[in-house]
Amino acid sequence: MTRVATGVGPAAGNGLPPDALSFVYLVSGVLFVIGLRRLTHPRTAERGNLVSAVGMALAVGATVLWFEILSPLVLAAALLLGAGVGTWLALSVQTTDLPQLVGLFNGFGGGASALVAGAELIDGVSVGELSGLSPVVTGAAAVTGLIGAVTFSGSLVAAAKLHGISEDPARYPAENGVKVVLAALAVALGLSLLTRTTLGLFPIGEFVSPYWLLLAVASVLGVSVVAPIGGADMPVVIALLNAFSGLAAASTGFVLDNDVLIIAGTLVGASGLILTTIMCRSMNRSLGDVLFGAYGTSGSGGDVADVYEGTVVSTSPEEVAMLLEVARRVVIVPGYGMAVGQAQHAVAELAQLLADDGVDVAFGIHPVAGRMPGHINVLLAEADVPYEQMRELSEINPTFTQTDLVLVIGANDVVNPTAYSADPSPIAGMPVLDVWEAETVVVNKRSLSPGYAGIPNPLFEMDNALMLFGDAREAMQAVVNEYQRNR
Ligand code: NDP
Repeated sequence: MTRVATGVGPAAGNGLPPDALSFVYLVSGVLFVIGLRRLTHPRTAERGNLVSAVGMALAVGATVLWFEILSPLVLAAALLLGAGVGTWLALSVQTTDLPQLVGLFNGFGGGASALVAGAELIDGVSVGELSGLSPVVTGAAAVTGLIGAVTFSGSLVAAAKLHGISEDPARYPAENGVKVVLAALAVALGLSLLTRTTLGLFPIGEFVSPYWLLLAVASVLGVSVVAPIGGADMPVVIALLNAFSGLAAASTGFVLDNDVLIIAGTLVGASGLILTTIMCRSMNRSLGDVLFGAYGTSGSGGDVADVYEGTVVSTSPEEVAMLLEVARRVVIVPGYGMAVGQAQHAVAELAQLLADDGVDVAFGIHPVAGRMPGHINVLLAEADVPYEQMRELSEINPTFTQTDLVLVIGANDVVNPTAYSADPSPIAGMPVLDVWEAETVVVNKRSLSPGYAGIPNPLFEMDNALMLFGDAREAMQAVVNEYQRNR
């Protein structure tokens, strides 16, 4: 282990044995693995997060101290600034905006990796070492630049889409041709770095310029790939960009010859790729379809008044409370609207009241409900909903035929039977929650507006469906009040 960060002098180590740092990195790696293992179950997830954070603090602390990277004053200032920005974000960002924030964090991770690899190349040139850099280092730098820049620009576009400030989807002519040409150009620039040729574009002896051009091309590639993806396929994109940010960090580990970056980056990359596979399966898509098929493009919401032609039946909190009183089995299906309305506490209170009265209560959670993987699980866990009540799609779907009442709270696309229709639609082929198979379905939302995929939902006009119009929190609190009054 020689270098670990750009501009760093010879390894210090404060007189400790050379293997001491590797040992600390190993301990950090083990803590990451234990943390990840615990994150696989909601009950242990909080502790898992803490264990991983301790591992990261250990790795960062050991690196900083060992290599004497910064003076204590500069370090303290950087820590204060970082902690200040983090605290401000945590306190000011609405929970509904968390998916965009996670998207931005992914992007910044990829961008940081790309810049660090570039700085390492510059460092090599400035100390006349570039020709001494091994092909592993230059190759890893090229991979880091490519993945990191794609992650950076792609994540910015994804975050803008989630925030509703970017066209969704943004189509352009010859999309796939443009993507292939840009990818080929980026690979050629990466190869020029690896082989130290200049492609005739740069002065002889100038090895670093292709790297910055590579970043520019890869950034455009990231935009061109993510921009046309729309509607229902964004969950896959977000999971994939998360994996990319990890892979970029791992390859930066090879550039810097830093074990802990390789371990942490590989863990993020591998778990992100597993999540991407799960998301693809949940959406019944292949990754190729998502990235090149422009599947999942938003449909037109149309004029909802025309679509439903006055066929929907609305209900009131009083009527819903009466339906709940006679129900023996109730399934609650939360969606993005529950997050917008911050209705999870009222929903949890209702579920608890029903369970206390001997009603069989379960939550049906679709893998892409909300705006980020696990969004609904996080909200329900925050409201202390027992994990035993949370059911996955495959588990809950066969039970709807024996369910008296389904309460859909701010969910739309994930309960849209259009997914099963042969007609093309953004959600065609996506498995959904078959809520209409229950005796009665109450759908709570504010209006008849479409969900993220932008298409009407025939569920709303089914014979056994009732619409409870209103903000999720107010509506659920009103149902709780009515239910309590009649107890
Ligand atoms: P949808 O986006 O389909 O629908 C949410 C509904 O909530 C809207 O129709 C809206 O209707 C309603 N709503 C909004 N605010 C409130 C409120 N305050 N009170 C009550 N209702 C409200 O959500 P789903 O969860 O059903 O589906 C998720 C969609 O998001 C899928 O298409 C998925 O592909 C996509 N997506 C998911 C990601 C993930 O990782 N989970 C990432 C990116 C996209 P109204 O305005 O009438 O109230």
